[in-house]
Amino acid sequence: EANFSDVIIIGAGAAGLFCAAQLAKRGIRVSLLDNGKKAGRKILMSGGGFCNFTNLEVGPQHYLSRNPHFVKSALARFNQWDFIALVAEYGIPYYEKEAGQLFCQRGAQDIVDMLLAECKKYGVEIALRQHISAVESMHEADGNRFKLELNGSVRYCRDLVIATGGLSMPGLGATAFGYQIAQQFGMEVIAPRAALVPFTYCEADKGLSLLSGISLPVQVTASCGQSFTNALLFTHRGLSGPAILQISNYWQPNESLAIDLLPQQNISEYLQHLRREAPKLHLKNALSRLFPKKLTELWLERQWIEDISLAELSNFQLHRLEEFIHHWCFKPNGTEGYRSAEVTQGGVDTRELSSKTMESRKVAGLHFIGEVVDVAGWLGGYNFQWAWSSAYACADAIATA
Ligand code: FAD
Repeated sequence: EANFSDVIIIGAGAAGLFCAAQLAKRGIRVSLLDNGKKAGRKILMSGGGFCNFTNLEVGPQHYLSRNPHFVKSALARFNQWDFIALVAEYGIPYYEKEAGQLFCQRGAQDIVDMLLAECKKYGVEIALRQHISAVESMHEADGNRFKLELNGSVRYCRDLVIATGGLSMPGLGATAFGYQIAQQFGMEVIAPRAALVPFTYCEADKGLSLLSGISLPVQVTASCGQSFTNALLFTHRGLSGPAILQISNYWQPNESLAIDLLPQQNISEYLQHLRREAPKLHLKNALSRLFPKKLTELWLERQWIEDISLAELSNFQLHRLEEFIHHWCFKPNGTEGYRSAEVTQGGVDTRELSSKTMESRKVAGLHFIGEVVDVAGWLGGYNFQWAWSSAYACADAIATA
């Protein structure tokens, strides 16, 4: 029958494309449906256009989920080396940018082309601009377990894979479809929220927008104790940069962050040492050896520091400096939201799914993979690795069932 597929996958993003190719490779008839006019749109935008497709070091500690053990099985069965091998097989040039993060040398298009080539090679049907209006489960002896209504027609399948991703970047086709399907079938969904996302200033900090464009290495710590050492970027509206995006995964509304603006050395030791060599040096000049000029100017302007000579610096003043340089307490107003979030935390509750097959425990044949599941990774290629690993686990389970 023309409108029957063994498997229908909804969502032609990272997870959907990879799952489709893996299934078709094993001789399974797969249809991959997407609402957009192009497959893999988010991959093209990722990693600043160069797609950080995995990380040399991947472990469950790099993921957030209500059940931190959930990712283990899938990550072990298809790991970063397996994906790197595929990238190498296609001769795609890549490089390590920082701390294990692998990026494409030429551009993210290489990864999309590779996934599309895999789909084509094994005969995946890809249907774009599909608007699925209804999904029903059926109980038929001939193996049709699901019926889909879309674009005025009907399709049937034995296994249905939901790979519609999270809510971040609505401009790239994100919808709540996956969550709605889960709920329709009586599955729990953990409230989604924007993650790997910049923070906005509260009213009192709005003056910091003067620092827009300045970046410096910091250590930032959330209330739960998790911390990251990396760059912070002041933006017009708030704080961003890798350290901030990472900590946003661990921040809860109304909490403050502790920011150390000089994580590599102690400010009072530095100034005391300098005072012995250059007692006449003014604090402003001493600090501009360590910090961007605009930042020290702002501190002076706000009279957080006085421009006195190092010889005049009292212990009390040293202590104050230490406080706001090493323990800046920053209270975000909120986040920039889905509009600028790289991932979505929350999603289909992992307790509803088998960690080996990604299949619903309640509804036979219904699977969820990728970001739609309550799994969110750190910045650094971990989210794509979750997409590849969960897609593989699902395909492998369907193919060997
Ligand atoms: P997606 O890739 O989002 O794919 C979901 C697909 O489903 C989309 O094609 C969408 O159009 C389709 N869809 C949605 N709703 C429907 C519907 N109702 N009907 C039909 N189709 C539907 N992660 C990294 O690891 N490294 C990076 O460098 C990186 N950079 C990023 C940069 C940006 C700007 C963003 C936004 C994210 C980045 N991420 C990165 C995160 C990563 O892109 C995602 O985690 C990953 O794409 C998730 O894969 P997925 O297949 O689950 O979902």
